Amino acid sequence: MVLAELGGRITHAIHQMRNVTIIDEKALNECLNEITRALLQSDVSFTLVKEMQTNIKKIVNLEDLAAGHNKRRIIEQAILSELCKMLDPGKSAFAPKKAKPSVVMFVGLQGAGKTTTCTKYAYYHQKKGYKPALVCADTFRAGAFDQLKQNATKAKIPFYGSYTESDPVKIAVEGVDRFKKEKCDLIIVDTSGRHKQEASLFEEMRQVAEATKPDLVIFVMDSSIGQAAFDQAQAFKQSVAVGAVIITKMDGHAKGGGALSAVAATKSPVIFIGTGEHMDQFEVFDVKPFVSRLLGMGDLSGLVDKLQGVVPKDQQAEYLEKISKGNFSMRMMYDQYQSLLNAGPLSELFSRVPGVSAQMIPSGSEAKIKKYMTMMDSMTNEELDSSTPKAFNESRIMRIARGSGRIVREVMELLEEYKKLAKAFSNMKGLKMAKNGDMSSN
Ligand code: GDP
Repeated sequence: MVLAELGGRITHAIHQMRNVTIIDEKALNECLNEITRALLQSDVSFTLVKEMQTNIKKIVNLEDLAAGHNKRRIIEQAILSELCKMLDPGKSAFAPKKAKPSVVMFVGLQGAGKTTTCTKYAYYHQKKGYKPALVCADTFRAGAFDQLKQNATKAKIPFYGSYTESDPVKIAVEGVDRFKKEKCDLIIVDTSGRHKQEASLFEEMRQVAEATKPDLVIFVMDSSIGQAAFDQAQAFKQSVAVGAVIITKMDGHAKGGGALSAVAATKSPVIFIGTGEHMDQFEVFDVKPFVSRLLGMGDLSGLVDKLQGVVPKDQQAEYLEKISKGNFSMRMMYDQYQSLLNAGPLSELFSRVPGVSAQMIPSGSEAKIKKYMTMMDSMTNEELDSSTPKAFNESRIMRIARGSGRIVREVMELLEEYKKLAKAFSNMKGLKMAKNGDMSSN
C-alpha cells in the first residue's frame, strides 16, 4: 500500500532530524520540506499541505522553546497532531440508532464502489444488530439493480428496486416507505453515478435527497483518484449535504492522500474504508490509530482487535503478553504465516505493530510464505521457540537448507525476514494500552 510509503518517508524525515545535533530553523525546514514533498506526491492537496506546514511552524516556535525542552519530541507531536487534524473535521457523523428508522443515502461517481460499499455498510450494521435494508435508486447503470440484488441476497438483507421503472425518485420513495413500514431501522439508498461529474447527476441526487430526506449522505470515493479528490468531493458537497465519507480500494496501489483532501473538501469525517471486494473487507476508520500506523507508531487497540480474528482464542493472552515484552519467536512468525495461508489478514495485523510497515510482509505471496514455512519445519523446537535465537551457525543453516530442500541463500533470507520483524516487535516492549486504546510507554 502506497500509504505505507508515505508513512515511511515522514518517519524518515523525523528520524533524520534526530541525527542532527542542534535543532534549528534549518533542520526544522528540511524536515518539513521533506514531509511536504511526500504529502504532495501522495496526492494531498497543495493548500492543505501548505496550511499544515504553517501550523507546525507556529506550534514549534524554536526560539520560544525553553532550554531543556525536548524539541524533537515537540516537533514529532506537532506533526502527528497536524496530520490528525487534517483527517478530523472536528465533528462526528450521524450515527443510526437501533429501532428508529434512519435513511442513509450513498452518492459518488460510477465505479467508485458505491454499490459494493452500500452492502458492506448494511452488512456491518446487520452484524451489530441493526435491521438494514437496501434500495436501488440507480436507474442509470444497466445491471445496477442486479448487482445490488445479488449482494443483498448473499448477505440476507432485504432489498427493493425495479427493472422497469426509470424514475429514481419514485423508486427511492417507494423503497424507503416500504422499509419504514417493515420496521427496518437502517434504510440505505444507492443512487446513480456517472463517469464524470455532470449537472444531470447532481440534479438527480438533489431530487432523491429532497424526496427521501436522508439522515445522512455518504460520499463514496475511490482512493486512487489522486489530486482530483478535493474538487470531486467539493462538487458533491455543494449539491447535497454530504455528512460522511467512505474511501474505497485502500487495498490497492492508491496513494491514499486523497482521503485527507476529501475530508477537507466536505468538512466531514471518513467513517469507513474499503479494503477489498468482499463484504467484510471494510474497516471502521479512526483518525489517530490510522495516523499512528501511517507513521509506523503502531496501533495497539487495532492490534488487539485483529489478534482476535487471527490468533486462536486460547492463545491470545499469551500472544499479547509476549508482544508486550517485545518477544517475538520464530514460531510466532510461523503461526502468522499459517494464519495468512488460512486467509487471515496477516498484513493488517502486522501493520498495527509499531515500526512494522506493510512492506515488511514478504511480498510475492503464498509461494514465498510456504517456502519459508518449509524451512522453519526443519528447525528444532528450541530454535523456533526462542525469542532471542542464538545466531544460526553455518552448519545449522546448511542443515536447514538440506532438510527443506532449499538453498543456503534462501535460509539466510528467511533469517533476515525474521530479524526485521523481531526488531519491530521489540519496539513493543514496555508499551501498555490505556483504557481508551491509546498507547503509552513506561
Ligand atoms: P459503483 O459504480 O460506484 O456502484 O461501483 P461498484 O460497487 O460496482 O464497484 C466498482 C468495482 O470496484 C467493483 O469491481 C468492486 O468489486 C470494486 N470495489 C469496490 N470497493 C472495493 C474495495 O474496497 N477494494 C477493491 N479492491 N475493490 C473494490
